[in-house]
Amino acid sequence: MTQTTLEKAKVNKAGTAPARPNPRLKGGYFITGDTPPEELFITEELSEEHRMMAEMVTEFCIREIQAPFARRGRELAVTNEADKEEVLGLLKKAGELGLCGVSVPEQYGGMGLDFKGNTLFSKVMANGFSLATTLGAQTSIGCLPIAYYGNEAQKEKYLPGIAHGELIAAYALTEPGAGSDANAGKTTATLSPDGSHYLLNGQKIWITNGGFADVFIVFAKIDDDEKLSAFIVERHYPGFSVGPEEKKMGIKGSSTVQIYFDNCRVPAENLLGKRQEGFKMALNILNGGRIKAGAGGIGGAQFSLSKAVQYAVERQQFGQPIAGFGAIRYKIGDIAMRAFANEAALFRTADCIDRKEAELKAAGLPESEAKVQAIREFAVEAAIIKVKGSELVCYATDEAIQIHGGMGYAQETGMEMGYRDARITKIYEGTNEVNRLLSVGELTKRAVVSRELDLAGAGKKIPAFLLRQLAPFRPKTAYAEETRIVQGLKNAFLFLSGMAGKKMGKKLIDEQEIVLNLAAILAEAYVAESVLLKVKKLERLPQADPAKLEIQRQMMQLYLYEALAVARKSALEAIASFTAGRQKRTYNLVAHTLLKPYDVNPKELRRNIAGFIVEKRGYCF
Ligand SMILES: Cc1cc2nc3c(=O)[nH]c(=O)nc-3n(C[C@H](O)[C@H](O)[C@H](O)COP(=O)(O)OP(=O)(O)OC[C@H]3O[C@@H](n4cnc5c(N)ncnc54)[C@H](O)[C@@H]3O)c2cc1C
Repeated sequence: MTQTTLEKAKVNKAGTAPARPNPRLKGGYFITGDTPPEELFITEELSEEHRMMAEMVTEFCIREIQAPFARRGRELAVTNEADKEEVLGLLKKAGELGLCGVSVPEQYGGMGLDFKGNTLFSKVMANGFSLATTLGAQTSIGCLPIAYYGNEAQKEKYLPGIAHGELIAAYALTEPGAGSDANAGKTTATLSPDGSHYLLNGQKIWITNGGFADVFIVFAKIDDDEKLSAFIVERHYPGFSVGPEEKKMGIKGSSTVQIYFDNCRVPAENLLGKRQEGFKMALNILNGGRIKAGAGGIGGAQFSLSKAVQYAVERQQFGQPIAGFGAIRYKIGDIAMRAFANEAALFRTADCIDRKEAELKAAGLPESEAKVQAIREFAVEAAIIKVKGSELVCYATDEAIQIHGGMGYAQETGMEMGYRDARITKIYEGTNEVNRLLSVGELTKRAVVSRELDLAGAGKKIPAFLLRQLAPFRPKTAYAEETRIVQGLKNAFLFLSGMAGKKMGKKLIDEQEIVLNLAAILAEAYVAESVLLKVKKLERLPQADPAKLEIQRQMMQLYLYEALAVARKSALEAIASFTAGRQKRTYNLVAHTLLKPYDVNPKELRRNIAGFIVEKRGYCF
């Protein structure tokens, strides 16, 4: 960037000098350094605009989706033409409320919400069953490629229609032979001799919204290119066709089809971004999509929990509401704790992206480039959030059925639908296996290849940490024990990734089982630190309800207790996988010292958390 551009950026920012880059606004930084609680964004700080949007979305979901579901007693399925019309009607109503344009900049008719706002939207849309997937594709993967990479003419042509729900958008990357290995796609694009259009040939599979979308972001390789390029394809273009709706396990109200290109004629000006930029674009868009998928998972878990609590309070067995049984309280307390902790990590990440974007803009980067780079920066965290959110909603919907007993298995309560709908979240936006591998792979790349992260430097502090654990007296300052646990989780990752890397070098990447162990510890470190920071920050705020804060503190304690158990199992498994004999015994000792148990009473913690939620008749944090 030239000095002149920087100067211009300064002037554009009304004369304010760009702030010095925050060293903590770095993807993966959390594993090497500390973040002060005041820097953590918490949901209590969401703006009035955010809250109003969330209220509007909730009301829309209750009025237009939940109430009709209760009357109908069954879910909508787009394999049925009448239901498909209803889904289109819902999309139209959502468009009228502006919900199709949450991520579209205001100048193109959208709400132009920041990343936190979009994250909140995805979380709250979980109240809207499978319409969440439909609107997710519309507002995220379907339109952001144009918003971030489109030229002015493309933005003006498509974004206002998408924002108002007049144009439905879809994203077509996956092919029968190219799923996780997305760059292996065989769809081709050939420029006509006069340069006026491309001819696309090939097939895409599993395309959300494809049954009724007007605009498709299609990834294809031009000639013999190594990498994909992206195109905007309109439904009416000659040579474009759509297959029947897939018969799926869940999200039946969401359209999923195959699409075909048979010498499909796409105007040359519909090339999106630069040639061969498509693969990078696809990955960057997926990074953002992963956080939103995680948000949907967390929202879905909170929704299912509230439904289960309402049922548990009403349902009497053995002369008392089942909500009073320890076995049921265990489930309620456990889901709530996981939802609370993961939400702390979710909004921490979303806010980091917003702040990074502001930092990059202040340094002179154009808005869309700043957005893309900011999202890209937090790819490690995005992968963690996606895995955590999707596994949480699968767990929560399963346990919500269990709390409902036989009624959970019945169609009319909607619990079985939630369970089936949740399952896809572990598969799309990158499977959870791929995301777990990616979280560790990306972090390692930043340490070893680009040298942005000093994992080795952070690892050098482990011996001193271990010595402190052996000291008979340890400081009893507030949260000293919890801070020790979080640091222990980070150190366990640093120690094991360091030792495994030393032993296996580049071959470690092929030892996926070990990388998955490392990924589990990494994710626990991130979420555990986020929830601890959240509670520390909450304590500094004026308290409307001290009882609520006490429960939030207990959720944090329970999360740390559980995180240690996950990390210990993963650490010992990893050690057993790459060491033997004396080295194994030494590493085991180190792991046990780093991940020393936390002296809390998990039964009491779960009971107290559940008691509070039962009293409030649902998730209330
Ligand atoms: C309902 C639905 C909606 C979808 N919507 C869209 C959409 O709108 N647009 C779009 O482009 N795509 C969409 N997809 C596709 C989705 O993103 C893919 O299904 C997903 O990326 C996985 O690809 P795959 O199904 O080919 O599985 P595969 O890649 O074949 O994976 C099969 C299994 O192998 C594992 N695996 C694969 N590679 C590796 C590896 N390197 N290491 C370890 N394990 C590995 C996977 O984790 C998985 O468990 C959708 C899919 C569904 C089911």
